[in-house]
Amino acid sequence: MIYLDHAATTPLDPAALQAMLPWLQDRVGNPASDHAWGRAARAAVEHARNQVATLLGAQPEEIVWTSGATEANNLAIKGALEFRGLRGAHLVTARTEHKSVVDSVRQLESQGLRVTWLKPDAQGLISVEQVLAALAPDTALVSLMWVNNETGVINPVEALAPLLRERGILFHVDAVQAAGKLPIDLSCTPIDLLSLSAHKLYGPQGVGALFVRKRPRARLSPQLHGGGHEQGMRSGTLPTHQIAGFGEACRIAAEQLAGEGARLSALRDRLQQRLQTALPGLYLNGHPQSRAPGILNLSFEGVEGESLRASLGDLAVSSGSACSSATREPSYVLRALGRDDELAGASLRFSLGRGTTSAEVDQAAQRVIDAVATLRRIAGSGTAAPVTPPINAHAYATPVWAAFSNPAHATALPEGAITAAAGSPAGALRLRLQAELQDGRIVRAAWQAYGCPVTLAVGEWLAAWLEGRRAGELRLTAADLRAALEISDDKAQCALLGEDAVLALERQMSLA
Ligand SMILES: *Cc1c(COP(=O)(O)O)cnc(C)c1O
Repeated sequence: MIYLDHAATTPLDPAALQAMLPWLQDRVGNPASDHAWGRAARAAVEHARNQVATLLGAQPEEIVWTSGATEANNLAIKGALEFRGLRGAHLVTARTEHKSVVDSVRQLESQGLRVTWLKPDAQGLISVEQVLAALAPDTALVSLMWVNNETGVINPVEALAPLLRERGILFHVDAVQAAGKLPIDLSCTPIDLLSLSAHKLYGPQGVGALFVRKRPRARLSPQLHGGGHEQGMRSGTLPTHQIAGFGEACRIAAEQLAGEGARLSALRDRLQQRLQTALPGLYLNGHPQSRAPGILNLSFEGVEGESLRASLGDLAVSSGSACSSATREPSYVLRALGRDDELAGASLRFSLGRGTTSAEVDQAAQRVIDAVATLRRIAGSGTAAPVTPPINAHAYATPVWAAFSNPAHATALPEGAITAAAGSPAGALRLRLQAELQDGRIVRAAWQAYGCPVTLAVGEWLAAWLEGRRAGELRLTAADLRAALEISDDKAQCALLGEDAVLALERQMSLA
């Protein structure tokens, strides 16, 4: 496995694990308890608070522990607006924010908050001017991420902070992808609220923090009520082991920041270079200069996202395609950059990390180059041009569908073979069938498809099924296809496409 998905989560640093172990093994004690063991746990929590604050140039009492950045973002946005009151309040944020910001803001919007959703430029950047132009007299909060988790684009938060401070507007920054990667100094950058997550910087999953400025004081209404922990801002027993690991991870991140940033930038450029040299039709999703070290996001023209992802084997990357996310929609971040559904779906995010080597980068590049080249051949470059010669998917062989790959179908059919297509040329699914006839009987069939792996499997199966049949013998429904290939409900459209293609072929055959 080559792991290039560090923007999704990072491996736990061994030293962070060591800092956690005592609190999972032989030590017991609630940090809120007033006895020796409780005090020991509290000391560990406060030590970690210092370590997190040091990474940010903050004061320890400005760090509020949370369960992660999702909670920190919810607390910052809902807490600040609830404290201020929603009536007559305005908020500025961007369409490219993390879901936990977007959905927190949407929730408040449904309750009456006025919101300006900034659209980034084609390179994913939100400008200072854009933010300033969106401000209104009643703007209470601006929420803008430091580094975008999909594109790696760095927003100008350092330039914005003093301008918002001058105007008395609270500034919240989701710094999950910036912390430990870019220098952050909150002692001279007047950001009021800043979110962190431990598992994006080699700490454990399930813990994060919200920086809440003391001077001038950013005020929040708590979102979790209970024992009044964390100065009343976030109740709940503190997970000593998680916090100890988070603190240690921040200490290590601060130590390695400069050197690791330069190393990852070089590796990212090497990866981009390799791919761009070998493959035409590549689009950089992001900014060529204003970008964080380890993230590279590219769209690949003429391939379909799900098939691309499925053909990468044990290369762990993220994709903007349907089945990569719980929502099954093309990435809204890439859509906001102006990418159409097809290109947004056919994108890969490579995120490099501490363990990534140049040999891994080279292997990953080669694997992607091979996969894209193969899929482009199958899809005929995704164009609607006539199919000559037809190319089959025998080279496309994921374990699940390998059984359907038949090299015998890979030979090109002669000119004059009958061709029929289904699916719209602009659609996400297309299938073409081609048949060579002798005395009205199909002696050889071939197929070509643009779509998910199930679409490809339908094409492969149909080509075999067609051989030996005559025009009158092409009775095949989508239900038959679904039964034969065990196609699930959510892929029913692939079977319908197969039925349409067979019908179209039959029509062509009876005309011939
Ligand atoms: C991962 C991530 C989050 C959410 O963090 P969790 O700790 O997993 O809840 C928020 N914002 C950004 C930019 C992220 O990358």
